[in-house]
Amino acid sequence: MIRVDLYGGFGEKGRTSIGISNGIKHVLLDVGIKVGAKGREYYPTIDDASIARLDAVFVSHAHEDHIGGLSWLRSRGFQGRIFMTAETLSEASDMLAQYAEPDHVRSFPLSSQQVTIFRVGDKIDLDGLIVATGRSGHVAGGVWFAASVEQSSIVYTADVVPDSNVLAMDRIPKCDCLVLDASYGDDPISGSERSRAIQKWIGSHPDGCLLPVPLSGKPLELMAILPGRFAIHAGMREPIAAQLAAKNAFLPNVEPMLRERLTNAVNWVEGTDFPKCPLLTFDGMGIAGPSVEAIARASEGGLPILLTGHIPPNTPANMLFEAGRAAWIRLPTHPTRQGSVGMWKQAGRPLTLGHSCSLSTLQTLKSYLPTLNDTVRSGQRIIL
Ligand SMILES: [Zn+2]
Repeated sequence: MIRVDLYGGFGEKGRTSIGISNGIKHVLLDVGIKVGAKGREYYPTIDDASIARLDAVFVSHAHEDHIGGLSWLRSRGFQGRIFMTAETLSEASDMLAQYAEPDHVRSFPLSSQQVTIFRVGDKIDLDGLIVATGRSGHVAGGVWFAASVEQSSIVYTADVVPDSNVLAMDRIPKCDCLVLDASYGDDPISGSERSRAIQKWIGSHPDGCLLPVPLSGKPLELMAILPGRFAIHAGMREPIAAQLAAKNAFLPNVEPMLRERLTNAVNWVEGTDFPKCPLLTFDGMGIAGPSVEAIARASEGGLPILLTGHIPPNTPANMLFEAGRAAWIRLPTHPTRQGSVGMWKQAGRPLTLGHSCSLSTLQTLKSYLPTLNDTVRSGQRIIL
C-alpha cells in the first residue's frame, strides 16, 4: 500500500509537494512555494503533525516551486533527513535567499552537513520504501523520483523535459501511478519550432534585447540556440559553469559547445548601459535577482523584452506582458503533448495525475491520456 498526499501543485502551478508513505516511513517529494500567493497558500497544505512525522524530504531540483518551502518546513518542526543532488545543493541557498522568509533562512541555514547527497540514478531504501531516481532533462542535476513499496510503485516526474536540445532524460520506469509534469497541458508545438521562433524574434531586434530567465535550466537551452553574440549578468557565469560541470547531465557534444559560448559571453552588471546584443538576467519573472532592475530599466528605456518561461500573475513580467510591453515565446522546459504521451506509454499507461497547472489546462490532456484523473486538487489523498 502506498498513501499519496497531494500537498501542492495540483490544480495550480507552484508549491509542488507530494507525501508518500507505506504506513511506516513518511517522505515528502519536493516542498515548493507558490509565486504570487499570499499567506498560508504560499506553502504546501501539509499540517504540522504530518511534518513532525516525516522521515525525509527529497528535492528534485532547486527551482522555487520545488524547493522554496524547505526553510519553512524546518521552521514548522521538520527533523528528518534532506536528500538532494550536489548540483541542487549548490543552488539551494541562493534560491532560498530569494524566495524563503528571511527569518527562516537566518534560523535554518542549509549546509552540506544537513543534506544527504545522492547521485542521479541512485536508489535509496528507507525500511522498504524505496526511492529511485533518474535524470530529468530539466536542469543539470535535476531528477525524477520513482517510489515503490513491495509491488506498488508511483513515479513523480517533478519537472522533466523529454525532448531537450541540451540535457539528457532517463526513461521512466513502469508504475501503477504516474504523476506527470503537466505545466504546458496539451501544447503541441515542439522545442525546435519554438527555438526557430525565438531566433527569428531575436534577429528582428539587432540593437539588443532583454531575456529574463531562471538561473538554471533555461539559460542552457537559450545559450544553445542564440544566433550570435550575447551577454549575461556577471552573477550568472559561475552558476552556469557549475551546471556545465555536471557533464553526465548533457546530451553528447553539448557541454563543450555551451562552455565555449559561456566563455565568449559578454558580462553585464547593473548600473551600466545595456549591451547591443541579447542579454540574459535572472530570475525569469522580475521578482528577484538582477532582473528586477533590468526589467524596470528596459521597460522605461524601450529595450525589447522577450519572456520565454512561466509568468505567474502579480509578477512584473506578467504585468509587462499584459500591457503589451514584453513579448512571450515559450522555450519548452517542460513536456509538450508528444513528450507527455511518450512518458505515459513508457510508464505502461497507468493512472495518471498532472501537476503544475490549472485543472482547465490539465483537462486539455485528457483526450491524449485516457487514464488521466483530471479532477484532483492540492489537499487530497489517494491510496495505491
Ligand atoms: Zn523547474
